[in-house]
Amino acid sequence: MPRFPVRTCVGCRTACPAAELVCLIAPEGRVRVAQRGAGQAAVDEAPGKRGRGAWVHPHCLAAVLTGGALGRAFRRQVEVSDREALLARAHFAHGRSSDAQGDAR
Ligand SMILES: [Zn+2]
Repeated sequence: MPRFPVRTCVGCRTACPAAELVCLIAPEGRVRVAQRGAGQAAVDEAPGKRGRGAWVHPHCLAAVLTGGALGRAFRRQVEVSDREALLARAHFAHGRSSDAQGDAR
């Protein structure tokens, strides 16, 4: 058993520790980055509570947004309203989750 959850990136299909990925959710059919990002999705936003989540590397996100991978990951039509904001958010969430490891509170 791995000590940490492993998720498969919807972009490159590589299985990685969830901490290296950001979690995308689409609660109302609009894609956004789950609040805590990498492996630490807030309870109310955790995949499974409100439908499926899609895990992706920050560097794979751009390709995922332009390809059809998101629709397949969520198994329905999803809308990307602001691609740039989503990319920025993904990188921010990922960077912060790495920094937060020594500062968990
Ligand atoms: Zn990837």
